[in-house]
Amino acid sequence: MVQSAVLGFPRIGAFRELKKNTEAYWAGKITADQLLQVGKDIRATNWKLQKEAGVDIIPSNDFSFYDHVLDLSLLFNVIPDRYTKFELSQLDTFFAMGRGLQRKATETTKAVDVTALEMVKWFDSNYHYVRPTFSHSTEFKLTGQKPVDEFLEAKALGVQTRPVLVGPVSYLYLGKPDKDSLDLEPISLLEKILPTYIEILQKLAAAGATEVQIDEPTLVLDLPENVKSAFQVAYDAFAAAEGLPKLTLTTYFGDVRPNLDAIKSLPVSAFHFDFVRGAEQFEEVASILTPEQTLSVGIVDGRNIWKNDFSTSIEVVKKAITKLGADRVVVSTSSSLLHTPVDLENEKKLDAEIKEWFSFATQKLSEVVTIAKAVSDEEVSEALAANAASIKSRSESPLTNDADVKARVASIDSSMSSRAAAFPERLAEQKVKYNLPLFPTTTIGSFPQTKDIRINRNKFTKGEISAEQYEEFINSEIERVVRFQEEVGLDVLVHGEPERNDMVQYFGEQLKGYAFTTNGWVQSYGSRYVRPPIIVGDVSRPKAMSVKESVYAQSLTSKPMKGMLTGPVTCLRWSFPRNDVSQKVQSLQLSLALRDEVNDLEAAGVTVIQVDEPAIREGLPLRAGQERSDYLEWAAESFRVATSGVKNDTQIHSHFCYSDLDPNHIKALDADVVSIEFSKKDDPNYIQEFSNYPNHIGLGLFDIHSPRIPSKEEFVARIAEILKVYPADKFWVNPDCGLKTRGWEETRASLTNMVEAAKVFREQQK
Ligand code: GLN
Ligand code: ZN
Repeated sequence: MVQSAVLGFPRIGAFRELKKNTEAYWAGKITADQLLQVGKDIRATNWKLQKEAGVDIIPSNDFSFYDHVLDLSLLFNVIPDRYTKFELSQLDTFFAMGRGLQRKATETTKAVDVTALEMVKWFDSNYHYVRPTFSHSTEFKLTGQKPVDEFLEAKALGVQTRPVLVGPVSYLYLGKPDKDSLDLEPISLLEKILPTYIEILQKLAAAGATEVQIDEPTLVLDLPENVKSAFQVAYDAFAAAEGLPKLTLTTYFGDVRPNLDAIKSLPVSAFHFDFVRGAEQFEEVASILTPEQTLSVGIVDGRNIWKNDFSTSIEVVKKAITKLGADRVVVSTSSSLLHTPVDLENEKKLDAEIKEWFSFATQKLSEVVTIAKAVSDEEVSEALAANAASIKSRSESPLTNDADVKARVASIDSSMSSRAAAFPERLAEQKVKYNLPLFPTTTIGSFPQTKDIRINRNKFTKGEISAEQYEEFINSEIERVVRFQEEVGLDVLVHGEPERNDMVQYFGEQLKGYAFTTNGWVQSYGSRYVRPPIIVGDVSRPKAMSVKESVYAQSLTSKPMKGMLTGPVTCLRWSFPRNDVSQKVQSLQLSLALRDEVNDLEAAGVTVIQVDEPAIREGLPLRAGQERSDYLEWAAESFRVATSGVKNDTQIHSHFCYSDLDPNHIKALDADVVSIEFSKKDDPNYIQEFSNYPNHIGLGLFDIHSPRIPSKEEFVARIAEILKVYPADKFWVNPDCGLKTRGWEETRASLTNMVEAAKVFREQQK
């Protein structure tokens, strides 16, 4: 009998229980014990679900209160000194590392003021992990035994699990040196960290774990030689240690062939490969196995919501069985299911025809089980027939095909993808039109999404208030945000995005070709979840999507108001894309819809327009090569198609939630002004790199993921540091990103300090 396996299950709860309770804990509304109990309940539910679905290999330690990489940092004592001096509980230290903490002293506790560790994208997904931050003084040791506790917890519930750990090479390579140890290369810490890994693995074995899943996803990246050779060192050390469980080494999100040499003789009991993202690698990777090793076939997509095509998957698994024998093959999800929503059953509003095409995490459990049964010749003919019918209905449905859209994409030419004049000429006209001061101040778009906003949106969705009442409410929010910005003294204003639940979903809901869910949440970072809309068919824009709010906002002020749109690549990346049409085509379809919107905004008098592309970086194929250069080309083309239909004095802005992309790639978008997340970049080389960017730029000055308020002096110091290498006349002053997750109080304080700091530099330039 071929076994079925799951690499990880969503940890957020079917109804976002984790978010609600974590935030309640942060707000002091529930105790740590209550929060811990919520975690326990979620884990129990998940294990039970998997067991009942018939999954053979069920993960544990895939749960986290914030991020599983941060869990490991806490477990291994990779805790920079700045977090330990406040005598916080372990849980609070963990959260402080994840999101920063600023707290006044009380009778019993010290004052706390510490920024968060850097948070970065998990490969090309929209999940973010907290970056392990090492220094010369890092001393690896176990500070607890979370993986063991959770293994035992499952065992007590009658579920034997396979604990998951991020492997040593990936853990180190995904980390970075701390400010005080910039010369430290994390991978050089390998020998030091291995004993700690061995210790936790031994403890797991002693607790009864027979097998552990070790994730080494970095194997799908271009790796330097010293990292490649680290695999052999690490896994030899594990093989030599006494009392370890069997290890399944997992890779996912791509093709590992370029790194095959690094893993081909590793002494592990099984390898897992992703054959959804790396179908072409089958023959080569299956050939590295020794006769004792098992192949875990990742065939049920952990990154998308489409129903598995059983006939194709069964073929792949059968190929593996022919090669290796049934007892050396496991049917698995391609990656953790963390990236998929919890349960399709909770979608009551989806069109029945479309719903039939989807499969969320819970449904994927039965998929791995059914495939495993099918290849073991168990009776599943009914399930197979139903699956074939569903796959066929989707490919033939008129809901997925629109001839007009296809024709319009085919008609895109170079005149549509470049501005009428080059930047210097545009800049000259824009200077006249907007007459902005030096160091113009602005924000990235959203303002605090208060409870009041959510309540009113809910009421409107439920039909408890009329469209007019809702519009009135939104207008009052816009007015408040406009007045606030005038008071604080910002130069280029925004309307605050109160009408938007989410920057992609909001547009997705208004575009043809999209479907959206009511409970399809996926963790983005910490307690922040997104509900990606689903691109089901050819995309077009039936009518204007954002013009009304922007025009209203502009009517309230004489300062320039930025129209605010989400760019084509981000709409694509933060949706679940189709898997039957290329990403390029989907992106271009979106770019045409957005082009119409940009042109409508301009015609309505909103002539500073920001088209956000925060996701452009994460879409970058993980390896250098043809696929990457193609991507860069169509991504930039999509942006330019969306934004090039305007006049020279219309000022196009863009925004990115990262900075570790080659400025040349950003340059290819030819936006007049870009803003990028930057506040946590300590490395002066980064600033240097961006100083070559030809157009205007705002390097984000404060972390919007944290409630912490930087002082005016802190802003001044940071700007001064940047201006050492960055030309003053190109520099905009803004936060890292939108302020929607922040409260009003800290927003006011932070922005006031930021604007005051800009004034200091304006004075200096006089
Ligand atoms: N305009 C958006 C906002 O401010 C941008 C968000 C983002 O880049 N993630 O919320
Ligand atoms: Zn951002």
